Amino acid sequence: MQRFTCDCGNVLFFGSSKCLKCGQVVGYDPQSETMVTLRPDRGVKRCDNGVRYGVCNWLLPKSSPEVLCVACRMNRTIPELHVERNLMLWGRMEIAKRQLIYTLLRLGMKLPSKAESPEAGLAFDIISTVSNPAVTTGHLNGVITVNLEEADDTYRQINRQQLGESSRTLLGHFRHESAHYLWRRYLSNLAWDDPQRLAFRERFGDEWIDYAGALSTYYARGAPVGWEQSFITGYAASHPWEDWAETWAHYLQIIDGLETCESLGIQVQHLALALVMLPGEAGTLPSMLEQSGVSDGEFLAWLQRWMCLSTVLNEISHSLGEPPLYPFVISVRVAQKLRLAHHFSKKWRITE
Ligand SMILES: [Zn+2]
Ligand SMILES: [Zn+2]
Ligand SMILES: [Zn+2]
Repeated sequence: MQRFTCDCGNVLFFGSSKCLKCGQVVGYDPQSETMVTLRPDRGVKRCDNGVRYGVCNWLLPKSSPEVLCVACRMNRTIPELHVERNLMLWGRMEIAKRQLIYTLLRLGMKLPSKAESPEAGLAFDIISTVSNPAVTTGHLNGVITVNLEEADDTYRQINRQQLGESSRTLLGHFRHESAHYLWRRYLSNLAWDDPQRLAFRERFGDEWIDYAGALSTYYARGAPVGWEQSFITGYAASHPWEDWAETWAHYLQIIDGLETCESLGIQVQHLALALVMLPGEAGTLPSMLEQSGVSDGEFLAWLQRWMCLSTVLNEISHSLGEPPLYPFVISVRVAQKLRLAHHFSKKWRITE
């Protein structure tokens, strides 16, 4: 996440809708990728979901015939708002959803809504299992469905413990499901022997193995012993598609985490730990992976910065008496998968 400031110089956050120092109304403008104050000369207006319900702080051009921002226009179903608590839960969902869309747009991807592009577009169904018990979080044909109840922290923690997960967040759900959407959009239509499909299979395994069977085996037996050597989470071991989704979600997490640090002026190479964790001289490679090109060197240095920083995060949470903030281990095989995610993200940038 970038660092944002108000016209008055005060710090603003991604979710801010008002400057706490000067009192001006502010919002995030996805076109300029920055937070702006809502002055008449700015040519922007607030998203209607912000004006009416207080669940969105994004802006859109004043001249636009639309009333919803680019992120809210992707909603196909929103929760039933006559149920009082749904508004609060929906607001939490929208923050996580906008953070996903922010990162994908920052990566240079074009993200049409399903209404604009029925084939390549993306839509969200945000539905509560209270009113619709059959709903499960997932992706199908460009529609990401999320269970609204997951925005209830207690509900989500109970699920996390029952599923034996080390981390379960709303943002993680959105990032994970975005991977299934991107797989369908960019990889599913390629020939099975296309280089990208072959690269996928080499890293993640044969995607044609029976999905329903693989998942029911996973839920019956759990992840195999030693999964940490090959997968970022236990769930990733269930099927190559889930491995991809967990890896991609993790890739986005690192992107966002490092951007936040660097925008706040934390230079990882200046940390004491960097002496042992970062490559010493220019051109020296991290020992964990072979370099296979110039941009690969950049990727490896990037990953090393994150591994150094995440160690610091865990030491800080330890000092606070909390469990590790970053309960993951990046093995060599996971690093290779992250490298492929990085490669795909470059391919999926808009080039026109
Ligand atoms: Zn201000
Ligand atoms: Zn909006
Ligand atoms: Zn999945």
